[in-house]
Amino acid sequence: MSEKDFLTKTLTETTLTRRSFLKWSAALGGAAAVAGGVGFGLKKVKDIAQAAPEGKWISAGCWHNCGGRCVNMAYVVDGVVTKQKTDDTHPDSPNFPQQRGCVRGRSQRRQVFGADRIKYPMKRKNWEPGGGKKELRGRDEWVRISWDEALNLAASELKRIKETYGNASIISGGSRLLNAYGGHFTRWGVVSEGAWPLVREKMAGVDLMEGFFGGGGVQGAPDRMDYRKSKLVVLWGANPAWSSAGNPMYNYLQAKKAGAKFVVVTPHFNSSAVALADQWVPVRPGTDSALLISIAHYMIENDLQDQQFLDKYTIGFDEDHMPEGADKRDNFKDYVLGTYDGIPKTPEWASEICGTDPTLIRQFAHEIATTKPMVFSTSWAPARTHRGQQYCQAFFTVGWMTGNVGIPGGAVTSSSGHAQASFG
Ligand code: SF4
Repeated sequence: MSEKDFLTKTLTETTLTRRSFLKWSAALGGAAAVAGGVGFGLKKVKDIAQAAPEGKWISAGCWHNCGGRCVNMAYVVDGVVTKQKTDDTHPDSPNFPQQRGCVRGRSQRRQVFGADRIKYPMKRKNWEPGGGKKELRGRDEWVRISWDEALNLAASELKRIKETYGNASIISGGSRLLNAYGGHFTRWGVVSEGAWPLVREKMAGVDLMEGFFGGGGVQGAPDRMDYRKSKLVVLWGANPAWSSAGNPMYNYLQAKKAGAKFVVVTPHFNSSAVALADQWVPVRPGTDSALLISIAHYMIENDLQDQQFLDKYTIGFDEDHMPEGADKRDNFKDYVLGTYDGIPKTPEWASEICGTDPTLIRQFAHEIATTKPMVFSTSWAPARTHRGQQYCQAFFTVGWMTGNVGIPGGAVTSSSGHAQASFG
């Protein structure tokens, strides 16, 4: 089989999506006709529901990539989803919470039936294999093409690009097809979600993929019941009230009822802060690392770090605990104090960068350093910036300086906004 045939065959065989797509397109076309127009607004969906009330509820997966697997039900009338609901299979309770979906998952039918949704393959009118009239990019018309033409174009262009430039010239977020075709370039490992696994691997020693999926107690938050033993919960860069796997807000509220104090660190006073925060620490977007390092400065200056924990379980904190062969001057403590670069990373130094009041930084630093057990948790979001890995490193370092690891009600975790480990 030629490479082109292989690609065409594979693309065709992996077109469950395509078939579903066509089915949905047909359903959409029929529904639009019933609705009497090309557009498919909510009113028209409602009309269909009223005109054909004989639909039924079916289970439907949530296709978003958060990993939550919430209960999602679709009410289907004549092949068209007219409404959605989530878990109402049993009463909600702390010990048996409903597995309710978030707003994103519960509105995904609007993606399927949205007026802007592309329903068939299209290409730029003046695009040709090799690029065509590139000067018309962004200005060209779009024309509809057949599935066969689209698949043939995709296969022949992949073949041409591989032969001309090699596999490294193909960029993809991840594809078994392209892996089978010799591999591809990807963008991953420096920002947002991708910034965490490598840092977990290097700092916590967990396997890279295990680190990605929650191993090593670094990614994973404590069990939801364990939160109720915490005296303090820090939510850094998280807004689980808006979008999060599982039911974190319900369980956070249970922890609050059990007596935990909540501190929320975010650029804006978000919905989660409204519901939970006893204290809000504002920080400019993308400057969280500076805030963390100044917290470390306060702790070191006042000798508040859990030195016993650091000495026993970590390396690199001070010059007496450096890895073999490393330059002793590269230790974290001396960097924070400015021993060699002459820049002490004080709250005043950080405030110039992150905008947080130095007095508030000291108060916050004192609280997290002196309260046990504490859950020190972050979402992945603050790493969604240039050199996002620095945030991950600073977060774990400061968290571990408090020694809240391996104790009931305590944790240092990157799961606050994505808490499937604890609340799923
Ligand atoms: S949290 Fe939202 S996006 Fe994630 S699985 Fe549940 S409903 Fe879907």
